[in-house]
Amino acid sequence: MTLDFGSNEEGYGKAMVVFAHPDDAEWGCSGTASKLVSEKWDVTYVVCTDGSKGTSKREISSAQLSKIRQQEQINAGKIIGLKDVVFLGYPDGYLEPSLSLRKDIAREIRKHKPGILICPYPMRSLDGPYQGSGHPDHIAAGEATLSAVFPSARDHLTFPELLQEGFEPWAVKEVWIVGHPAPDLFIDISSEFEKSVLALLAHKSQMSMNDDEVRQRLIEWKGNKSHNNSNFGFKGRAHGTGMKYAESFKRLRY
Ligand SMILES: [Zn+2]
Repeated sequence: MTLDFGSNEEGYGKAMVVFAHPDDAEWGCSGTASKLVSEKWDVTYVVCTDGSKGTSKREISSAQLSKIRQQEQINAGKIIGLKDVVFLGYPDGYLEPSLSLRKDIAREIRKHKPGILICPYPMRSLDGPYQGSGHPDHIAAGEATLSAVFPSARDHLTFPELLQEGFEPWAVKEVWIVGHPAPDLFIDISSEFEKSVLALLAHKSQMSMNDDEVRQRLIEWKGNKSHNNSNFGFKGRAHGTGMKYAESFKRLRY
């Protein structure tokens, strides 16, 4: 399958993925990022936090962990073939949809000029298999990103200091939301599945499962089977699509 999303429009051929923690994108959308790269798109990751809280090991300091996780994200990015990985460096666990975060994301949008931007669902789901879940950093990253896309990155009078820094306004053409309860866009990642597994495994410090268990988890999440391992049941992202492996999104057009 060839991705053909308005490829003649300005900005198509470039995508940006904004997320809270190193490894979020590998769980949610690295197959799609890899697919875009395979079709000659420039893909940039923007990581909002420094990942400094994600360990149960008392002997590792936040500063040490942050350094390890940055390197893991860079390694994962090399496996996928990303153009760039940007670290905004906000403290892990305390992310807010602040004006500061919104401006920092708007700056990256103006700098990299993506046609398509991928980000987390900006709300807490109270229903279904993930009821009540939702890391506050993920919610904040989603909200700040959508606010950066519209209107901050687009309007020259918003954050005028960005203009002074040399970053001209940029209008993102569409946003794909990861984790929406009713997705309407399914990307066939079957050809990229193995690469997405390897990219996830690059986040070694975050793995409580062995390599085979991680692979199995991704097969369940992104495959086409229906599972009944919770009260609500669970369907792989590719279920009912005719695809072997898929990632799903809510597609917003601007
Ligand atoms: Zn996360």
